[in-house]
Amino acid sequence: MNTTNKAASKPAYLPRTLFTDPGARAFIAPQRYIQGPGVLDSLGRYLSLTPATHAGLFMSAGGVERFAKRLNASLTSAEIKADLLVFAGECSLTEIDKQVAAIQATTIDVLVAVGGGKCVDAAKAIAYRLGVPLVVVPSLASNDAPTSAVSVLYSDDGVMAGAEFYPENPVFVLVDTAIIASAPERYLVAGMGDAMATWYEAATCLSNPAARNVLGTRPTLAATAIGETCARTLFEQGVAAAAAVRDGAVTQALEDIVEANTLLSGIGFESGGLAGAHAVAQAFTQFQHVEENFLHGEMVAMGTLTHLLLDQRLDEARRVAAFFVAVGLPVHLGQLAVDAADADVLEALAKVALGSGLLANIPRPVDAVAVMAALRSAHEIGHELTAASGSSAYDRLHS
Ligand SMILES: [Zn+2]
Repeated sequence: MNTTNKAASKPAYLPRTLFTDPGARAFIAPQRYIQGPGVLDSLGRYLSLTPATHAGLFMSAGGVERFAKRLNASLTSAEIKADLLVFAGECSLTEIDKQVAAIQATTIDVLVAVGGGKCVDAAKAIAYRLGVPLVVVPSLASNDAPTSAVSVLYSDDGVMAGAEFYPENPVFVLVDTAIIASAPERYLVAGMGDAMATWYEAATCLSNPAARNVLGTRPTLAATAIGETCARTLFEQGVAAAAAVRDGAVTQALEDIVEANTLLSGIGFESGGLAGAHAVAQAFTQFQHVEENFLHGEMVAMGTLTHLLLDQRLDEARRVAAFFVAVGLPVHLGQLAVDAADADVLEALAKVALGSGLLANIPRPVDAVAVMAALRSAHEIGHELTAASGSSAYDRLHS
């Protein structure tokens, strides 16, 4: 039976911490994760296993052009009604409220987000307000948004304006690796930058009894083990997966890296915990030219090197930087269009990084001087490496 959606009596912002038992450890994840070439065409069959009868297909105008025909065919064959909902491009409260108002007049009982990070994050906020389950179909593997119960919100002008934390993760995440393989290489590589932070930040949180994960709890061993597998997969398969995307081919390496970038990184960051890599990545977004020209995972890459130096793991920082050079992620500040010689810039980065609160997860006192020193050291390591072995992968992705 269908009734018109009424919902939307929910608060605009949820409290940061839903888990309140002191010292508790918690682990959350999507109910199902399905990945493979061509799985997009099975969306209808998977939805037919749920109570859903009327899907709202939420995607950008470009997404409509690329995917709407296939999705409609899949849903029609499963006898599920489908409406297209066009995402205007910004994950802002204006966009979220507009979509909620439109969907309330319908009988939509499941939301399907097809697209990149902002589309997925907006859909999480819309589905929460409507009280309907969310299915995520990422069109890129450039970030770890698809599996989590968190949205990053922006103003209408695209300035980061906070985050929302939801009581439920997406019910399922469907990743079509043929779609990922046809996207530009730079997106997959940026996803590797975001994913590589996962293990190092989770390991720091696990080692520090005072640290808390994104849920506000202690991390589980499970989440940390997932983070470790994520990093190992990147080291072993990252270069081969980038080559596969250049050829538009779905290979075993690509499948492994898509899982690392999406599932392992997503669960690993949310339940394992964040620290210096994301504190520094957030700090880079204060510079408009960086925010506009670089992807989240590219800023996280520089953040990861900084984090490892703050955590006094110099050898690991060198190993990770060598991997970043091989796949084309930034390893020095110049590769993020930031002037390392400008002390004011470094101070501004340190200030925002400290303000994020995430540096408190590092098990020793960290102040602005320490952050600036770690940024400089990371920058120098990157410079040394690119001076010795060049930067052909980075140059190819940024030409
Ligand atoms: Zn991230």
